[in-house]
Amino acid sequence: MKDFLRHPLLSTIGIDHGFGTVGSAPRPQCLVLRQTHGTRVLSPGEYRAQERPMEGDGLISHERGEEVGVFTADCLPVLAATESGECVGAFHAGWRGAAAGIVPAGIRRIAEMGQILSAHIRVVLGPAIGPCCFEVGPEVWESIQSETPTYVQRRRRTLDLWELVTHQLLEVGVSPENIGRISLCTRCHPDLFFSHRGWGTRRKGRSMLNYIRRDMR
Ligand SMILES: [Zn+2]
Repeated sequence: MKDFLRHPLLSTIGIDHGFGTVGSAPRPQCLVLRQTHGTRVLSPGEYRAQERPMEGDGLISHERGEEVGVFTADCLPVLAATESGECVGAFHAGWRGAAAGIVPAGIRRIAEMGQILSAHIRVVLGPAIGPCCFEVGPEVWESIQSETPTYVQRRRRTLDLWELVTHQLLEVGVSPENIGRISLCTRCHPDLFFSHRGWGTRRKGRSMLNYIRRDMR
């Protein structure tokens, strides 16, 4: 059975987490938001204060045993935790959200909540549509401004979400050794992942859940 994919950067510090596949089991206990491709990141108090589901693209938590997650189907899921394991976060980054800075916004919130430097946060970028398949239009070039981007291939008109977000993480102070990736393209692996572009209407709205849980320590 296909299960959640995990990354040693988080597993080795005892963080329960997983990037969903087509076969991974539902996790009804996981808190998720109504995602909007924006940059809003919410803490537990903020989403409990409102009627759910609230809108946003990132959830952070510092409560023991609490699990937060994001749904994806080609967009990039990002899971993060402080090295102490006391604060975790899950972020949903399609090109719009990524370009607008959802991931650095989330990392800043975790640093604030944990009262630590970004250098002590571990971040893993999960399966997403890769530069092999992610052809994008001119509106994307215009919104992602950089002098010498390594994450856009103008000739092929493709975008590399992993590279874009890695670049942003380094800018916000995350250490290179604390950034991990599961570089599997969701569109190239329809047997493993639901893909918005790869599955088309056959997907019927199905997505992968990507979760992370603050442990009981
Ligand atoms: Zn691909």
